[in-house]
Amino acid sequence: MTNTPSLDEIHRLDREHVVHPWHAMDAWRGYDNMLVDTADGIYLYDGTGRKFIDGPGGMWCVQIGYGRQEMADAIAVQAMKLPYASPFTNATEPAAILAQKLVDFAPNDLNNVFFTTGGSTAVDTALRAMHFMNNNLGRKNKKIILAREKGYHGSTYLAASVTGKERDVSQFDTARDLVHFLPDVNPYHRPDGMSVDQWCDAKVADLQSAIDTHGADKIGAFIAEPILCSGGVIIPPEGYHKRTFDICRANDILYISDEVVTGFGRLGHWFASYDEFGIEPDMITCAKGLTSGYMPLGACIISDSVMERMTSDDPVLFSNGYTYSAHPVSCAAALKNIEIMERENLLDHVKTVTPHFQKRLQDLRKYPIVGDVRGMGLLGCIEGRLSKDGSRLSDERQIGQMLDDACEEMGLLVRPLINMCVFSPPLTITIDEINLMFDILEKAVDQVGQQMI
Ligand code: PLP
Repeated sequence: MTNTPSLDEIHRLDREHVVHPWHAMDAWRGYDNMLVDTADGIYLYDGTGRKFIDGPGGMWCVQIGYGRQEMADAIAVQAMKLPYASPFTNATEPAAILAQKLVDFAPNDLNNVFFTTGGSTAVDTALRAMHFMNNNLGRKNKKIILAREKGYHGSTYLAASVTGKERDVSQFDTARDLVHFLPDVNPYHRPDGMSVDQWCDAKVADLQSAIDTHGADKIGAFIAEPILCSGGVIIPPEGYHKRTFDICRANDILYISDEVVTGFGRLGHWFASYDEFGIEPDMITCAKGLTSGYMPLGACIISDSVMERMTSDDPVLFSNGYTYSAHPVSCAAALKNIEIMERENLLDHVKTVTPHFQKRLQDLRKYPIVGDVRGMGLLGCIEGRLSKDGSRLSDERQIGQMLDDACEEMGLLVRPLINMCVFSPPLTITIDEINLMFDILEKAVDQVGQQMI
């Protein structure tokens, strides 16, 4: 029998051997990520008896909350029945039934599901499908992808290439010639004196001008998150999605809606593209909440119309895919996740608690260090603001981390992003738990404000 290692020992092993995503390379040897040991409901436990509300819901993904015995059972049953089957040569019951569910949730003629291993590979699949389609149609030059500054689409080469968070890709090579970035759409960053409507006009004009510059015959797709989540929960101005969608349609540019975060109930819908924003994309990418993070899985849902244009008279292969595409255990987890969400009416629950969540978020505006708060559904962001004399607070870039530290002391985890912090708790969160979470946030904002004066 082996001895269970102590918490200190685990930390040491982690520090010495685990390379974490987004390590700061000047300090990675000293990294000390919080060790989490167990979890239940909306709470994480660190193994020393300390309990934390999981503000980020894992990484925007734990919709049904932690500690679901029936999920563990569903995973175990599938692992015993059929743990793996090659998606290249086999079909399985969980994948087939899940695909049917997803196309039922998706709008319009999005009837075809390509399963992936997560969000990045779903985005890669969508972009490669566009390239494949245009090669198939003999439009070899219609390949440029329009993406947006502050957008995040993943960490594979192609998904990172369309990611517009400069800091995340500055030290990497990306496929720069393939991508054109549209400028920041955040209404909070609009010039003084400009109305939100005028901002919307300007942002729509940015898209039109990119098309005018490159030519519609060179542009294959526009990829957009309905809300730019990792960029700081940026909500484009009202009407932006529909207007940009219409321009793409008019110019035969595929519209790819990246719903890796906004899908599966985060905004109170299975998918937000149509139900919230009135658009019917050519492809929707999803992951995260699809399994509530219990197993890795993603999907690229493709319209009939795109599939028809990918269809060939020759036996050309759509040679895109992964050993773990449509993994039976992941698909079984997704089916159980959907069953739980349906049985517990989680979409309605999100719609019911959202007004209170968003009101408590808006209440934070009264604190001097808060420049902007924004959110939708169970998504929220606090952005640090200019100091009173108009100059940036010297340690403004640290506000996210300072808030995170203060919250952690009081039993809440948030996700710091430079001068912002974001949160997206499990969708099961109750009104009492929302109050608990915002009571802590309020104290933390106040406390950090005192430190910065
Ligand atoms: N797309 C969006 C909108 C995301 O937020 C993310 C991850 O945060 C991804 C894609 C990449 O997903 P994954 O980390 O599962 O590869």
